[in-house]
Amino acid sequence: MTVAEALRSAVMQLKTAGVSNAANDARRLLAHVMDASSEWLLLHADTRLSHAQQCQYEADIVARTAHRPVSQIIGKRMFWGRQFRVTEDTLDPRPETECLIEIALRKPFSRVLDLGTGTGCILLTLLAENPGASGLGTDLSAAAISVAQFNAAALGLDAQAGFAISDWFDRVEGSFDLIVSNPPYITADEMADLAPEVQNWEPHMALSPGGDGLSAYRRIADRVGDFLAPEGRVVMEIGPAQGAAVTGYFRAAGFTQTTVFPDLDGRDRVVVAAH
Ligand code: GLN
Repeated sequence: MTVAEALRSAVMQLKTAGVSNAANDARRLLAHVMDASSEWLLLHADTRLSHAQQCQYEADIVARTAHRPVSQIIGKRMFWGRQFRVTEDTLDPRPETECLIEIALRKPFSRVLDLGTGTGCILLTLLAENPGASGLGTDLSAAAISVAQFNAAALGLDAQAGFAISDWFDRVEGSFDLIVSNPPYITADEMADLAPEVQNWEPHMALSPGGDGLSAYRRIADRVGDFLAPEGRVVMEIGPAQGAAVTGYFRAAGFTQTTVFPDLDGRDRVVVAAH
């Protein structure tokens, strides 16, 4: 079977299964199996797959027809130019979260706390961009912490990054001049409307705290003052309709400067709070 034949058959299977970006996903999955780039595939339409590659590709396409996210099938995802391991125990790093990174990097920092670190993509990106900084990533999920530790080692950041299994601040000690989080914020009602890729394959605990989707921000606002250095900032991802509620919690907790920033689509995405 050639590259062109493999792609044609995969696209048909994915379309039949209702996968929306069939052609793109078929290329990404084949590129992974052949250890090549999508561009290479375009230029090598007549190259034949080995038997092992063909078997692997068929299995990966079957997984994708079950709506398993591409990043989980290939086990990785690019975020801010670096590669992160992704499993079913971690939220798939999303491009809109790069907006949080861009805002967090606008000011210097030396000690970072990332609450609900998942793959570690936020903490590790911030530390890679600031080699003089160090930080702590927490997660309630031990499996997620293992993935974050793997990513820290793979990126050569284990001297800068520590990790702890913790329910928000429960196991956190010390003071931080940057506290970041992309907590679960989808409401219980919205969970039902998510794409099957998200609904069936990503950890619910990383997506939704249930109810109005805001309980993680209440928990963070309640205790963040005990861990934030005097000139420190809190930078959090939010859902598009949550800016007013989240800034309200932080103002009630004594933060005088609260700002909501939009993402590249113009939807509210990040809240910054400072004293
Ligand atoms: N941004 C994610 C989504 O829309 C949700 C992530 C989160 O709850 N922090 O699927």
